[in-house]
Amino acid sequence: MDLRRRSFTAKLRTVRRSSGEYLAELERNQFLDPDALASLEARRAADIARFAAEATPFYRRRFDEHGVDLARLEDPDEWQRVPVTDRAHLKANEADLRPAGSERHAREALTAGSTGEPLRTAHDTRVPNLALAWRMYRWWGVQPWDDLARVGRWGFGRLETVRNRLQWWPSRQLYLDARLLDADAMLAFHRDLVRTRPALIEGYVGAVLEFAAFVERTGRTIPPPVAIATSAAPLPPSTRRRIETVLGAPVYDEYRDSEALWMAGECRRQDGLHVFADARRIEVLDPDGRPLPAGEIGDLVVTDFTNRVFPIIRYRTGDRGALIDGPCACGVTLPRVAQPEGRAIDMLRLPSGTALTHITAMFAKHPASVRLFQVHQRDDFSITVKVVLGDEADALRHVEEAVEPLRRRIAGEVPLTIEVVDALPYTGAKTKYVISDVPLRDA
Ligand SMILES: [Zn+2]
Repeated sequence: MDLRRRSFTAKLRTVRRSSGEYLAELERNQFLDPDALASLEARRAADIARFAAEATPFYRRRFDEHGVDLARLEDPDEWQRVPVTDRAHLKANEADLRPAGSERHAREALTAGSTGEPLRTAHDTRVPNLALAWRMYRWWGVQPWDDLARVGRWGFGRLETVRNRLQWWPSRQLYLDARLLDADAMLAFHRDLVRTRPALIEGYVGAVLEFAAFVERTGRTIPPPVAIATSAAPLPPSTRRRIETVLGAPVYDEYRDSEALWMAGECRRQDGLHVFADARRIEVLDPDGRPLPAGEIGDLVVTDFTNRVFPIIRYRTGDRGALIDGPCACGVTLPRVAQPEGRAIDMLRLPSGTALTHITAMFAKHPASVRLFQVHQRDDFSITVKVVLGDEADALRHVEEAVEPLRRRIAGEVPLTIEVVDALPYTGAKTKYVISDVPLRDA
């Protein structure tokens, strides 16, 4: 333990000096008084937007079209004139989004996307983004030098694996590839967990849930980690409780994506996610692009203050959420956003135009009745709720009860079927709780 801490600290003073300095700065920022933090955020947002307008044809064109005054971007009203950028914009203008000469600092990133084709972006190798994660880990009592286990899509080749081991030595990192969640892979991962006893297990919600189900099904246990962190999909209360019960540690929600990396994370209070407002701006906007007050759910729009190889300015992430008012009891002054509600696409629509949301929370009151679920709407609007039943005696009756409110909202407009299945198809790294084949209408 001590060797890991000393080695890590030594690296922060030498080979990873920039990470060390950045972490120290982040740890100061998180206790700034809210006004100081807000002006730091406004200054950094304005700086990166000005950089984007000066260095990339895409943003220059868009800012011109909207008459944005680059000199006044710290002013919230002027900031609102900055046009919101969608995934389709990034996809269609990839070349125009890269500042000249930025290639040597670019690490290419391909986002899988829960819908549609992959999107190509790039991360800035000059930015020690991991420090954002380290600050958050400390909220949970996990230290950056602790052993970690990750359940995700780690397409590491042999060389990267060796390089990664060396880079982090003597801290150990275990991996379970979420694309290969068969019994053998889970057994091997379980063996590694028992041997290494990592402080943190971090991974995609669906994959961590799958592993928890495996542990329970096979009557195993694991040495409880200090914390478990999930990302990549909403964390419904039932899922959180289930993972906490089976794996024996609190589960925290992280908000990150491939475009902007770490954006927000829960603290120990599990009462909303602190936005990393010294590095990212998260806005909540209504369908017309106007900012919404705290408590009202809208589109999450992110600005990354640090990426100068593929600037992300007012980018609509496709997730929805709401700002939370007031200070957090943990003492961190970073603003909070309520748990993102998942992809805007993760809703069902009826032929009448009615949108049904909160689908993923459907089984929240019945954690013991449902092991896994998936709601599938076909292109004829019919809805099938597939469930893998839990061990509870009356599981099916509880499922019927849980689906009843949805049935009432649908009011017979389309057929709704409950289908009990033994397993759900595992579609890659991200579990899709809601799948809709109904074509998107133009906004
Ligand atoms: Zn807090």
